[in-house]
Amino acid sequence: MAASDSRRSHRDFEGNRSIPNGEEVRNVRDTGVQTDAKIQGHGPRLSKANLFTLLSLWMELFPKKEPQQRENDATGDTGLVVVHERMVLGLHCSSAQLHAGQVAVVKHGPRLKGCDLYFSRKPCSTCLKMLINAGVSRISYWPGDAEISLLSGRHDHTDSSHQEAILDATAAERLKSNSRPHICVLLQPLDCTMQQFVDESSQNCDFLGKIAVDNPTLNVKDLFRREWWNNLDDFLKKFFINDEEQHKYVLNKMGLENFCAEPNFSNLRQHMRNLITVLASAAASVPVLEENYGFFMREPLGMGSPALPQDVVRHCIIQARLLACRTEDPKVGVGAVIWAEGKQSQCDGTGQLYLVGCGYNAYPVGSQYAEYPQMDHKQEERQYRKYRYILHAEQNALTFRSAEIKEEENTMMFVTKCPCDECVPLIGCAGIKQIYTTDLDSNKVKHDISYLRFDKLNGVQKFIWQQKSSARHMSEQDAPPTANGYMKRKAEETHFQCNKRLRS
Ligand SMILES: [Zn+2]
Ligand SMILES: [Zn+2]
Repeated sequence: MAASDSRRSHRDFEGNRSIPNGEEVRNVRDTGVQTDAKIQGHGPRLSKANLFTLLSLWMELFPKKEPQQRENDATGDTGLVVVHERMVLGLHCSSAQLHAGQVAVVKHGPRLKGCDLYFSRKPCSTCLKMLINAGVSRISYWPGDAEISLLSGRHDHTDSSHQEAILDATAAERLKSNSRPHICVLLQPLDCTMQQFVDESSQNCDFLGKIAVDNPTLNVKDLFRREWWNNLDDFLKKFFINDEEQHKYVLNKMGLENFCAEPNFSNLRQHMRNLITVLASAAASVPVLEENYGFFMREPLGMGSPALPQDVVRHCIIQARLLACRTEDPKVGVGAVIWAEGKQSQCDGTGQLYLVGCGYNAYPVGSQYAEYPQMDHKQEERQYRKYRYILHAEQNALTFRSAEIKEEENTMMFVTKCPCDECVPLIGCAGIKQIYTTDLDSNKVKHDISYLRFDKLNGVQKFIWQQKSSARHMSEQDAPPTANGYMKRKAEETHFQCNKRLRS
């Protein structure tokens, strides 16, 4: 196939088109997948490309047990999403030993053939050559600083790490222009109502709802907004190059000079900012309240695997929150992610964790959601309601899993709403060992959907979002994490006031 040059990358930047994404539009009929565009009678949805891009950014922030110590300090953490035929095969991030691209090769090997990869930074030439060799179909990357930073040491002409970064960027371009896979920047413009939709659904989600129930005098909207601002500040520092001249320098070195001309440059930056804002909202839906709120067992079972550190649990739950932004349900978005703790050595930045599956609530694959009823209990008669047609997030995560659930491993489900009676037996029989969720709806019957069985689900350790003091019989394993991850530091810096308020 023809070389992939900068003009080709330019074409992939969907901001300059009137049709959001040709490929997505073409596939609507086949897969029931829509873009951000608002369909009549339906809320906006994240496109798959934007969802995977956001997940890659979020994976870059996966909490690490120890501070990363690399030989080359100019190499930043990178997040990666591996997708095969629209199914997520893996969520990864770089570790002290390996770059994210190398992790993918080690973990997936020949299964990378035909995969689409979404990186939070342009991968270095070492990663690129292996991925091209593996026969991946597409490599999409976030157009910020590269994996080997082009900005650090830039103004010092004698800085050897900067010289290395330039050499690597040149090699990466050469690999790109001689390779078959499509190497591009794939950002799609957000529907104008998308930001508002994510903002509102984040504020209305059960995690903040639980805080509101526990603290009737607390202004949860304020809490959300404060959290949102903190996140936005952090994420912009991490993923956005504030200085325009520096950003153009990086784009030029990465072979994206066409983005430097107007209006492309402004459009690109606006799309980047919009996506970062969505990420800030999704992350604010599960606020970091340090020791006050977390996922704890109500009554610890004697047996079972230890709980994950709270910062890791929160990270996984926010992955599920991002997935929920692609819901096909007109009102309630739910996301579910399944991870397992493997026995293998820790080459991935996620440690021994590996992804088993993920999903969101949607109509059956192969259908268009316009073909099914979208009414809820307030409208029409029961036969016209949506409930009998929508697949739940847990069901999709189990159905489209990329790995088997192994009896000898701790397999964990993270879900943004209390599992309903339709899902509870599936979770129990699938071999899930731990579930991290909220029980705000537990023991309720909400018209066509009931939540009576979750409480009685045995054999699965339930870690419920709650105030720590309300978790009875605290076991040692529920103790707050000692990991000094990014989230923990952030919590210490920014939430002192909020904690005081909640404690009083
Ligand atoms: Zn690399
Ligand atoms: Zn369900």
